[in-house]
Amino acid sequence: MSERILILKSGKCAWARCLFCGYGSIHTEVGKEDLIRKFDKFFRNLDKTENLKVFGSGSFLDEKQVPKEVRRYFIEKCRQMGIKKVTIESRPEFITTEKLKEFDGIDLEIGIGLEVADDKILKRINKGFSLKDYERAVDIIHKCNKKVRTYLLVNLPFVRDIEKSLEDSVRYALKFSDSIVLINLLPHHNSKLFKMWLRGEWNFLSRDEFYKLVKKFAKNPKIEIDVETFKFIPKFPLELRENLSGVGEEFLTHRHFEVWQDYLQRWYCPPRKRDILLLLPCSHKKPYSKSKTHKKILRILKKFKNYRRIHQVMVSNAGLVPREFENLYPFNSYDWDEKRETHEIKKRYIEITAERIERYLSAHKKSYKRILCFLRYDSESYKALKIASQRLGFEFRNLLSKETYNRIKSRGRILQTEDALNDLYNGLKNEIA
Ligand code: SF4
Repeated sequence: MSERILILKSGKCAWARCLFCGYGSIHTEVGKEDLIRKFDKFFRNLDKTENLKVFGSGSFLDEKQVPKEVRRYFIEKCRQMGIKKVTIESRPEFITTEKLKEFDGIDLEIGIGLEVADDKILKRINKGFSLKDYERAVDIIHKCNKKVRTYLLVNLPFVRDIEKSLEDSVRYALKFSDSIVLINLLPHHNSKLFKMWLRGEWNFLSRDEFYKLVKKFAKNPKIEIDVETFKFIPKFPLELRENLSGVGEEFLTHRHFEVWQDYLQRWYCPPRKRDILLLLPCSHKKPYSKSKTHKKILRILKKFKNYRRIHQVMVSNAGLVPREFENLYPFNSYDWDEKRETHEIKKRYIEITAERIERYLSAHKKSYKRILCFLRYDSESYKALKIASQRLGFEFRNLLSKETYNRIKSRGRILQTEDALNDLYNGLKNEIA
């Protein structure tokens, strides 16, 4: 059956208080005429669609979000277009017999975010309705010969035994639903859950952890599995951002750096086809690519036709920073002044960085055919890399040769010198040309 998805941005979720949801606070002011124009545009470009899914934060059946006339216009359009099945989403309180009857003749499915079959947890996550409310809505839907699609969130906070809670919730939801979606809970920015994540009170499941938990349900034809409902990147809302300039333990293991490193190790996948890892130093100027050293490095890399095979990852007190994230907070908002480093903090930097490299490469070593670096031999980052390579047993090559380094080490900014950059060019020629 051909399927299309309509993302509906209209109004605001009437509840907007679920602890894990950042969508609820999004408000898109759209007038009736605009909404109708949007539907017209969508249906104009629709070709032979039999199954239409309408997604949007909130409730399609909330008349403040989708006014009655607009809803009826939408239903009529679906009929005209010969759409056989329509899926919409709604909170239980907006589900009424009268509204559902309007859809007669169309196979209607209503998605309800039940999240968990436990009233105590529903209260704690501030869902704003109970199992009784859900059951009442399900009863109306089934009496109108429509279908129920129940969303369950896997790994909610406050749940003591995730596995048992999931089993109980699935068993419960199967009694009331025509289909179920098991969703991996990830931290939306703008949600309270995001703050809990930053405080270390909750953590997301990696893909493997999630699949392991839901595996036993995967063969049930009524159950779908959704590991990533939105593209998950830790996006810090403005009000949570801090000035991270300084030297010391606090600026080495700050929570904002740590959650990113955890993300890079447990969720991130290096870009496909970038099979050569090149570890580079960070720079005072942010984003790194605007600094003199990085500009020169990038000029050399771009001389190679297939330079896109190179995955550039910076090594810094903030952790490992893949080039594609260099302009995101916190990587564009810290400053570590090497002149203020003490012997102790240098030692800690090496320890922490070696661990971070080790964990990153334990997760992603298979993505890379070669591991290279362009680092000063006396830098803490290079020392950390060496320790990680010994512990994990991987080989790497420093594109700055020992001979060049020994010859120029007394000069300042050695990675910007022609000699060092020549090494980078010649080294890469051997590796990727
Ligand atoms: S989960 Fe749904 S009901 Fe809860 S705030 Fe988000 S959009 Fe609203």
